[in-house]
Amino acid sequence: MKIYCFYFIVLSVLFFSCSPKPKPFPNQGLNNLADSMEFVLQKNQFYIEAPKHGEWLERNKERGQTFTEYWNKNSNIQPVQTTEKRKKIYLQLHGDFDETQLRLMDSVQRFLSVFYELPIERLEQKKLDSTQLNALNWRLHKRNGFQVKTGFILDSLENNLPKDGVLLVGFTTNDLYPSQKWSFVFGQARLYDRVGIWSMARFGDKELIKNDADIFNLTLERTCKTAVHEIGHIFSIQHCTFYRCAMQGANNLTELDGHPSYFCPVCDAKIISNLHLSLSKRYENLAAFWKNQQQLKTSNYYKKTAIQMKRLEE
Ligand SMILES: [Zn+2]
Ligand SMILES: [Zn+2]
Repeated sequence: MKIYCFYFIVLSVLFFSCSPKPKPFPNQGLNNLADSMEFVLQKNQFYIEAPKHGEWLERNKERGQTFTEYWNKNSNIQPVQTTEKRKKIYLQLHGDFDETQLRLMDSVQRFLSVFYELPIERLEQKKLDSTQLNALNWRLHKRNGFQVKTGFILDSLENNLPKDGVLLVGFTTNDLYPSQKWSFVFGQARLYDRVGIWSMARFGDKELIKNDADIFNLTLERTCKTAVHEIGHIFSIQHCTFYRCAMQGANNLTELDGHPSYFCPVCDAKIISNLHLSLSKRYENLAAFWKNQQQLKTSNYYKKTAIQMKRLEE
């Protein structure tokens, strides 16, 4: 199976774009927010074991990105940030979505608005039919069937990113491939251009999503996990190598399923300090979101964490 995060490694050197210097974040006298969060959230609950054969970290020797490296003041490049005029996250659906898949995408959109505490808007859905596609941007793969080339959709997203958008991400129900030598990819981003496209094609069978609540929930969890991971990349967060975390790289669906849909204290400290997110309130809202989706394990994690995060507000 091809690795879906390949392009983020290739593009990791392009992670940063020129943007205003970060504002300092209150840190209760400890070195930085990540230290504070590792302390109050009891970091040992996030510990990971050594990677198994075939897993992302066994195949890719990544060293990780600390909180201090994320905000490296000596670097002339800084993480992507929102500005007063550019703070919306835009989503756009490409191709056909049935009623259940649209309902699922509504939930993903709600999740992202709670996770990133940014306004989220949906651009008009784009068709992926013979009027849009030509011989250069799709293929019939011998095992995977009909697939759309990522570059074609990324070009379209790049041209459609509104001026007030900090990023634009596309979702499609079609399988994707980046070039002829690849069997498929789950998604691809252009970090400098702040756009990305992700496929739900391998996250759950269309009929099963419709008829089986467990498959619907699993597909929702996978899509939410992928969405926060990839948007995290667009906000210049590199793969997490420290803890169990939604920012860990994944080589396949089994590995992805083993990752949580939340960020570890280090990655969450990066996004909280970048976007000036609320502390306990955000976790309470995330607990409520997952409770609504009947995903009680994740909801309880956020509920417990919200209480711990209150210590940073004292
Ligand atoms: Zn990645
Ligand atoms: Zn992490």
